[in-house]
Amino acid sequence: MSGRPPAESASPADGAADRSPVEDADVCVIGAGPAGGIVAERLAQAGREVVVLEAGPRFDFDDRLARQERAIRPAYDRPDVWDGDPERDAHSASGEWFYPLNHARVKGVGGSTLHWQGMVMRLHEDDFRSGTARGVGVDWPLEYDDLRPYYAEAERELGVAGGEDNPFAPPREEPFPMEAFPPSYSDGLFAEACDELGIEMHSVPNARNSESYDDRSACVGYGTCQPVCPSGAKYDATVHVERAERKGATVIDRAPVQRLEHGPDAIEAAVYATPDGEYRQAADAFVIACGGVETPRLLLLSKSSHYPDGLANSSGLVGRYFMDHLFAGMGGVLEEPTRQNHVGFLTSESHQFYDEADAEFAPFKLEFFNYDGPSPVEMALSGDDWGDDLLERLRSEYGNHVGLGGLVEQLPREDSYVALDYDRTDDRGNPVPDVHWNVGDRALRTIERVNEIQRELLEELGAEITWQVDAENTGPAYHHMGTTRMGTEPTESVVGPDLRTHDLENCWIASSSVFPTGGAMNPTLTIAALALKAADHVLESV
Ligand SMILES: Cc1cc2nc3c(=O)[nH]c(=O)nc-3n(C[C@H](O)[C@H](O)[C@H](O)COP(=O)(O)OP(=O)(O)OC[C@H]3O[C@@H](n4cnc5c(N)ncnc54)[C@H](O)[C@@H]3O)c2cc1C
Ligand code: SF4
Repeated sequence: MSGRPPAESASPADGAADRSPVEDADVCVIGAGPAGGIVAERLAQAGREVVVLEAGPRFDFDDRLARQERAIRPAYDRPDVWDGDPERDAHSASGEWFYPLNHARVKGVGGSTLHWQGMVMRLHEDDFRSGTARGVGVDWPLEYDDLRPYYAEAERELGVAGGEDNPFAPPREEPFPMEAFPPSYSDGLFAEACDELGIEMHSVPNARNSESYDDRSACVGYGTCQPVCPSGAKYDATVHVERAERKGATVIDRAPVQRLEHGPDAIEAAVYATPDGEYRQAADAFVIACGGVETPRLLLLSKSSHYPDGLANSSGLVGRYFMDHLFAGMGGVLEEPTRQNHVGFLTSESHQFYDEADAEFAPFKLEFFNYDGPSPVEMALSGDDWGDDLLERLRSEYGNHVGLGGLVEQLPREDSYVALDYDRTDDRGNPVPDVHWNVGDRALRTIERVNEIQRELLEELGAEITWQVDAENTGPAYHHMGTTRMGTEPTESVVGPDLRTHDLENCWIASSSVFPTGGAMNPTLTIAALALKAADHVLESV
């Protein structure tokens, strides 16, 4: 008995499925998140024999309401919603800054998009040339223009509802696939304060349906998008994984790859564990799409006499330069109710200050929360009053909160990395990933700057400020980047601009792990654009 509410009872029994390898596979994709799903779908569409190996289970769509129930019951922690397993997902966090890895990912078909928020912006032009334009970090080996057609395609693939009202966004010619969601009630309150302070608000591109799209319904407003959208209106990578299957790909779940067998120049097979034993999947090409932490971990676990420091690691950089976006936030209470309905996603942002970034200050964006305060249940659980007293408190304190967020870029640093912790093992006896996360002064300085703007806005609104996330108590946005960076020089990077590892002729990486710098935009649209590009390059070779 797991102690979890019913969703798990609907999971298929271990060992019920055939998890044996696929013969004559052209491509083995490892990981079934958005990166792996998109690559697999593209390659299957082109007629290649594709097999996808996914560490976690396949979740039944019909269980989503039960998972939603878990999400709203305070007794269940975030990793419980998608059946996180503490032994399978064991990890360490040895850096100056604690990293809560299992709140930052989901293992299973769909990957972390099962519980993501779904904000999808393009990086700005200067994000691709940080070293040149901002005097810190490094330039990408690609420019915005190189990725631009892939960005447009990624927006169609994910299904993005967005508007043309963002004057700070990088250039685009084509409209978004769907109209943006309208601004919320509390956006309207913030808009008045923004007008006074000369801050421009605009819509947020969302990977959720503002109308029926791609055989999935329009958003019906459950508001529990993070960590579960029961309607399927929010994009998650099961869309691409299932589409890949319909085009002939084989998806093997509960199949964590343990190591990659290889010669000096190429991978030969992925050795994977299953509930009924270990198998070996051979293929002509391999695409590693295990996310920003497990991708370097798998390479490090695959060390050999050819690559004593880890596979594809002749540069010594596998795992180095781990980055996340830093969160800066502030909120308060208004004297009036905000009359804000609970909305599970954001409708307005400001990218006004983004391109002012330089060596001193990082790029950042401002987020206007659709938030009216803790829910009545949370309020009830946090007090010691009952009956009429409790009712009175709920009536007077519920529904009058406002909140602001912000994401800040962290620069790549050598002392911020993912390594193996040889003192701890997972359920298969493998050393666990150790996220050694260090942040740096530029990001912390920028958080103070974001807080200043947030304070001005809340004061303009007349709010009493009740909470603040600042440089002292900041945390990650759960965007894992940088650990197999992309570059032209094999001594300074792990993959080239074609996403192929410099060391191995048949191994590509699809992940934010290849980002040389992170910008301050949520990463997944860029991950999807790069996955489409990687698929093109794989197709040239198999
Ligand atoms: C709470 C939350 C909110 C977020 N909100 C946003 C947002 O609003 N916008 C945005 O852009 N991004 C957001 N993200 C980040 C986003 O979810 C990730 O960027 C995205 O899912 C990464 O895609 P991926 O395919 O590279 O990796 P993942 O989605 O992590 O998928 C990797 C897959 O590989 C599998 N895997 C790992 N190791 C192995 C192995 N050895 N063998 C086989 N399979 C393996 C994993 O089980 C997993 O399913 C959010 C993340 C979180 C946690
Ligand atoms: S608000 Fe929309 S996207 Fe979010 S959970 Fe509900 S239906 Fe899904």
